[in-house]
Amino acid sequence: QVNIFWFRRDLRFIDNTALSYALKENSPVLPIFIFDREILDKLEDKSDARVEFIQRTILQMNEKLQAKGSGIKTFYGQPEEVFKTLTSTHKIDAVFTNRDYEPYATSRDRAVEEYLKENGIGFYTFKDHVIYEKEEIVSGSGTFYKVFTPYSRAWKAKYTEHPPHIHGDSLTNDNWFKVEKLDVHSLKSMGFESSPIQIPEKELDTDLVKKYTEKRNFPSLNATSRLGIHLRFGTISIRQLAKEAARLNSTFLNELIWRDFYAMILANNPQIVDNAFKAQYDQIPWRKDEEGFKLWCEGKTGYPIVDAGMRQLNNTGFMHNRVRMIVASFLTKHLLIDWRWGEAYFAKKLLDFDLASNNGGWQWAAGTGTDAQPYFRVFNPESQTEKFDKDLKYIKKWVPEFGTKDYPEPIVEHKFARLRAIDTYKTALGK
Ligand code: FAD
Repeated sequence: QVNIFWFRRDLRFIDNTALSYALKENSPVLPIFIFDREILDKLEDKSDARVEFIQRTILQMNEKLQAKGSGIKTFYGQPEEVFKTLTSTHKIDAVFTNRDYEPYATSRDRAVEEYLKENGIGFYTFKDHVIYEKEEIVSGSGTFYKVFTPYSRAWKAKYTEHPPHIHGDSLTNDNWFKVEKLDVHSLKSMGFESSPIQIPEKELDTDLVKKYTEKRNFPSLNATSRLGIHLRFGTISIRQLAKEAARLNSTFLNELIWRDFYAMILANNPQIVDNAFKAQYDQIPWRKDEEGFKLWCEGKTGYPIVDAGMRQLNNTGFMHNRVRMIVASFLTKHLLIDWRWGEAYFAKKLLDFDLASNNGGWQWAAGTGTDAQPYFRVFNPESQTEKFDKDLKYIKKWVPEFGTKDYPEPIVEHKFARLRAIDTYKTALGK
């Protein structure tokens, strides 16, 4: 008899909710990880740093379990098929896992649950990835919040009253299923290879957090945590991080609340994956400007702050939040290109790519989402530079040819683009 623990976006032993509960049961726990072909086979970049990060993390965790006579059993396949194999080789009591709220994940889990139940096997899921789920913070009338500020107020009140429980280190438990040495699938066996991109450390720099409020908006300073990828794959626990944030800096805590907010918005509105949150914004006749889009992707628009951001993204898998707002506004307003194109490009490139936050960020910039920028607000790249990169340090780092004859002319003139955007939005929205 065995209980299965299924690792997904919670790749850690410390404060892992479902894992802690699984280990308290009678039957020993065999952890598994599925390299999901539905996801991996669609990735164009076969040296995707995120795949390497996951593989390396599983490898390290497997070694830790080997020291306890256990290990992580890995699969490369389609989840439902994997469970069909597992039920033929093991006598399974139940499967434990932490909930994932993305539309693909929820339908995958439904299918797996159905199959397991037909075979008399329990499927137990737990909250772990967020502090509060989609129905835990609701307005007085019982509906979900569509605006961040009242949501964050209710969030903080609940959090202060009942801070979430933090679980211990699962490695101190001995209820692991004993196995012969297990080998983790290699990158090569799945058609992937190593990436030159570096993954940021998972340590929280408390000094940085203390100065976060003053410094976080300046892209040339290394003043944000870079923990995005660790939150994405759960190599750190959101509960531990929020506890630190609450102790150290409320501005930083607020950013973690944005993460919960967008996860809640997506969970309550799965249609926003393909549609504007505010439906009438799907009337905007986006320009199908392939050439402009290519120049934007490559960082060759002739707007140095935009180009610096895109080059930072292409080279490091990261872009500073302030610059994400600027490049997203530029694509959707200056070039009038569909936010979905930009969103898809970010999804390919960002180490910290997270469907809910990425969609939220893009719809905010395009004016189509919750709390969005009003349609007539068009970021001026020059005044943003003046405010946030006055000495051009960030720009010079990523666009060394800026100021020389090799640097291109702007692909569109600012005043013209601004008026065109306002006019197009106005007409489409019937304002
Ligand atoms: P820090 O400033 O150190 O913040 C700590 C953590 O708080 C972040 O890691 C993140 O988990 C959370 N956070 C911070 N700001 C936000 C925010 N505005 N919305 C939601 N969560 C936030 N964030 C992602 O995690 N994944 C994405 O795919 C993503 N795409 C974005 C696209 C656009 C167009 C915009 C404008 C923003 C996007 N963001 C996204 C939000 C934000 O830019 C990043 O979370 C942040 O820059 C990551 O850097 P950091 O880890 O140093 O963040």
